[in-house]
Amino acid sequence: MSGSNGSTPPLSAVTTLAPPSPFPITSAEPWSSTPLLQPSLPLPFNLTATKSKSATSLPTTAAHAIEALASSLSSHVFVYDDALGSGFGQESLTWGMEGKAAKGWEMQARPGAGLVLLGRLGSPLGGSTSAASQGGVLTAFVGPQGLGLMSQTLAQLPASGEGGKLVLQVPGLSPLPSGAFTPSLYSLTPALSGVPTDSENLAVILSSTPKESVALAAAAYSVKQHIVHVFDHSSARELTALPAPKPLGGDLSLATAFDRLGVKYFDYFGDACAEYVLVCLNTPLAHALKAFLAQTPRVGLLVIRVLRPWDEVTFLSALPNSARHLHVIDHVADTFDRGILYDDVLGTVLSGSGLTHSAVHKVGLLPEKLVEHTSRPAQLIARLYPALPAPASVHAQAQAQAKKLAFYTAPNSTLQETIAHTFLLSSSVSTRLLSAIDAFSHVGGVALHRMLLHRASEDLASVELPVDNLFPIEQDSADFVAVADASLLKTHAVLSSAHPDAQVLINTSWSAEELAASLPPATLAQVEAKHPHLYTFDLRKAADSLIALDAGKEEAQEELETVLQLVAFLRLYLVGAGGETAVDKVVRAIYGSFVAGVALPDVLKAAWGNLHEIVLPKYEPEEKKTNENPLKYFEFNTIAAASVPAAKPAPVPRVSSWHEAAKLLMFRESTLVPSTTDTTEQPTALRPETEERTYLVKCTVNRRLTPVTYDRNVFHLEFDSTGTGLKYAVGEALGIHGWNDEQEVADFCKWYGLDPDQVISVPLPEGSRGARHTRTIFQTLQQVVDLFGKPPKGFYAALALLAKDRPDAMALRFISSAEGASMFKKLSEFDTVTFADVLRMYPSAHPSIEQLVELVGFIKPRHYSIASSQAVVGNRVDLLVVTVDWATPSGPIRYGQCTRYLAALKEGQKVTVSIRPSVMKLPPSDRQPIIMAGLGTGAAPFRAFMQHRAWQKSHGIEVGPLIYYFGSRHRSKEYLYGEEIEAYLRDGVITHAGLAFSRDTNKKVYIQHKMQNDGKMLNTMLAGEDEGVFYLCGPTWPVPDVYEALVKSLVHHGEKKRTEAEEYLEALKEDERYVLEVY
Ligand SMILES: Cc1cc2nc3c(=O)[nH]c(=O)nc-3n(C[C@H](O)[C@H](O)[C@H](O)COP(=O)(O)OP(=O)(O)OC[C@H]3O[C@@H](n4cnc5c(N)ncnc54)[C@H](O)[C@@H]3O)c2cc1C
Repeated sequence: MSGSNGSTPPLSAVTTLAPPSPFPITSAEPWSSTPLLQPSLPLPFNLTATKSKSATSLPTTAAHAIEALASSLSSHVFVYDDALGSGFGQESLTWGMEGKAAKGWEMQARPGAGLVLLGRLGSPLGGSTSAASQGGVLTAFVGPQGLGLMSQTLAQLPASGEGGKLVLQVPGLSPLPSGAFTPSLYSLTPALSGVPTDSENLAVILSSTPKESVALAAAAYSVKQHIVHVFDHSSARELTALPAPKPLGGDLSLATAFDRLGVKYFDYFGDACAEYVLVCLNTPLAHALKAFLAQTPRVGLLVIRVLRPWDEVTFLSALPNSARHLHVIDHVADTFDRGILYDDVLGTVLSGSGLTHSAVHKVGLLPEKLVEHTSRPAQLIARLYPALPAPASVHAQAQAQAKKLAFYTAPNSTLQETIAHTFLLSSSVSTRLLSAIDAFSHVGGVALHRMLLHRASEDLASVELPVDNLFPIEQDSADFVAVADASLLKTHAVLSSAHPDAQVLINTSWSAEELAASLPPATLAQVEAKHPHLYTFDLRKAADSLIALDAGKEEAQEELETVLQLVAFLRLYLVGAGGETAVDKVVRAIYGSFVAGVALPDVLKAAWGNLHEIVLPKYEPEEKKTNENPLKYFEFNTIAAASVPAAKPAPVPRVSSWHEAAKLLMFRESTLVPSTTDTTEQPTALRPETEERTYLVKCTVNRRLTPVTYDRNVFHLEFDSTGTGLKYAVGEALGIHGWNDEQEVADFCKWYGLDPDQVISVPLPEGSRGARHTRTIFQTLQQVVDLFGKPPKGFYAALALLAKDRPDAMALRFISSAEGASMFKKLSEFDTVTFADVLRMYPSAHPSIEQLVELVGFIKPRHYSIASSQAVVGNRVDLLVVTVDWATPSGPIRYGQCTRYLAALKEGQKVTVSIRPSVMKLPPSDRQPIIMAGLGTGAAPFRAFMQHRAWQKSHGIEVGPLIYYFGSRHRSKEYLYGEEIEAYLRDGVITHAGLAFSRDTNKKVYIQHKMQNDGKMLNTMLAGEDEGVFYLCGPTWPVPDVYEALVKSLVHHGEKKRTEAEEYLEALKEDERYVLEVY
């Protein structure tokens, strides 16, 4: 093939590539095209339709299936924010909003949060107006953290059946303070602290594989009890073929349901005469341990699938009588935590069983260690049983059996899904695809998709091992590695995952020489050590050549690109099965004769012409440079919530109608991060009362810019918008949906006699088609109702009608009348009273909470100019804010509603935002001069302008002059973004600046003075051919002076009369060349 000189001939039909795959798919595959089940969108499994079809399966993820089950089998679905943060519940909310399934409600996981559910279940605590009280089923998606806060709810659940039924679907994943994730379930201990261990009213069941998660999630709706179903988060996100859950019937006992499913409360594995038994919750750790203990003498493993009610008799019967040492593996919060299992097991053993001579040992696993133990169970076993011979693992065998493919792509890639779908069409291969995102180690983030292919006939136990066990990221395990962005090879240890002789496909236009010259020594050393088979694929060139064939094909570019990559992949994968001919057959079987309107032979020709095998020149290690950056390793640190209700479906095989349905369902959620071209929306459920599209972003920086001793607090905020689809243009403003102060709300509730945890349903404004908010009173007053805003006259008039005491009624009527205008003015403008103040002033006017909500109205979002350019910062939005506060004549300090909220934001806190278009648009031509003038926070949009111009310059784009006038009081205290401005001046991004610090000298200098000095330049820019654009942003008060300065420059230097200069500026306004954004 290619010579050692690195030449890169195209592949030919006779090319010998890597050894053939052990079980390649072939064109002779019995493509499954019979629609075995007919799912009704948007749900993957229509239970009634599956009565007699036991062996049917559908490509999907367990997470999606669980949401679909919950939405179709519940009357209401509550989604707590910690579950949402783990990517669960978004679809349910969307379906509910679209009227396709149970209504969804967004909830906050905080102390007392679960009481809402209790209220809806019609318990004495919460009233009984709910649908659930008529026998409905409520589902809540809540993470382990939220579950830990629900002890009161779980302890007080009404008898199931009487007030409806509750199903908590709990994805087992929580964030660690480090930003990583843990599957620890330590919060089960506080959650179940008030639930008697033998209570039949609530069952806690655990599942650990995708298939089991769907089966148990469905069973939760067939049994009488309230259910807490904890399922494994990681495997639930795997895309794989899942059987439809068995319809079990209704109102069953848990035991009957489990019998019908063929699963047990407790599973025992290993030596039937074991002396040592590990006792473990049904989590991926159990599978990992099972793989080691299955063939190890003297040791066994007991896995708990039903934690409540704790069934002592069944537990004892599952244990071998030979057991002398029970090691109870508990998930614990810290070293003082007792865990949930140990007491149950100890109590059972001591309760007079035949095992009273057995010792029960506690093994507490801390949250941050759990992933490590699951990945390396052998270490845990060796630590527990040092005297026993090393356990025999089935890992090696299972690892060897699986074919392992790794795809490094941008987070929004769909390639891996298309490839997975291709395999999912095959009945002889079982396919698993697990995606993870590292948002931090690469600009724009990087996704690693691990795909495991097993023979469908293989032993299920090995197939069920966690992906992390079978396919560890950093070990030499991948048979095939695809790298969508060649620059990753410069920064990341991508080749660490490849085993020696693996196939590595790099998407690049570089030749072998160029690659060798640009790769860092560490990557070259890996190539030298592992001898991978390297292939380059010039996707861009291949796609362009097809588009050139037909000028109308631009729109289909994405589909063409995906298919081209699929073809390149199959060319390498199918080499043993016939090379190019086999690829032709497979792709034709899936896509037919045309791809996006292009004839298949043309697509294949374009692919073959741009796919090359390369050999890098021999690497001669030089002396290691000390400033060499080490290669980065991939970290799983981001789950972008599946917040996209209708993401653009990836191009996928078109075989049959049910596949079409399946792919639409599946791709929607498995696209973890919306694509950059995404035009879809986050649900308006975040703030359903607003018509604008809203996004939930995370505060990552809140930094005060002025000294703490200074009387003005100007601060810089950064929000991470990863995964939200938020897009903004330079100059646009961000709408912040701020909350009221927590303490003030609590004080008001107490004074007004309100139960903060009671749930109320608030109608949304007209035009919302009868939609309502359902939240606790506390949430409603904190997040929705403008209780501390400024009351209009009508509020006094409405209260007058409700006042019970005559003096109150008269005073209120007077203030709202024409005669009371000066009283109203005093209250409004001097005392600046709030709605809450007025209620306190006239306490006999005491509207009900529902009336109050209606009378006061909703908090309005405040807008802030965005201080960043998305081309530069990516998934980030920056703001520059000054706090608003003022003293009232009676003494207390008042705070602006939104700036108070923003100033108190902590890193990590989520904020609901929207985008508001703005007049502050960049001029149509990059060469037009830009003149920017701002005071204080008026600097915000100009920072975005400057960032953008700097970016343009760095990309070789020719830009016009940039003039910046900025004013504040003191240079040392309020030169906002001063260091950046100085750097831009130095680099020539800002061509001229007029900085006016009014209190630094005795002579007060303002921006208009600086502009007057520059009169000649301003006249040339504004009146000359270059068509300069003038912008003023910030407080309103300098507007007349700035206007005057511009008039003067036109009069003095442009020889215009004053009236002509004024008319000229008016005309500039019309042309959007004199732009004001003042507030
Ligand atoms: C397009 C645009 C861009 C903007 N960009 C920025 C920016 O980049 N940075 C920035 O800091 N700001 C910006 N603002 C201003 C911002 O939107 C807010 O107006 C400002 O932050 C104050 O909001 P707040 O909720 O804190 O104050 P509010 O609660 O809205 O109070 C604002 C004022 O209303 C009056 N008031 C409030 N309550 C009462 C009452 N009960 N009785 C009588 N009077 C009352 C007070 O005079 C108070 O000063 C921008 C505004 C617009 C329109």
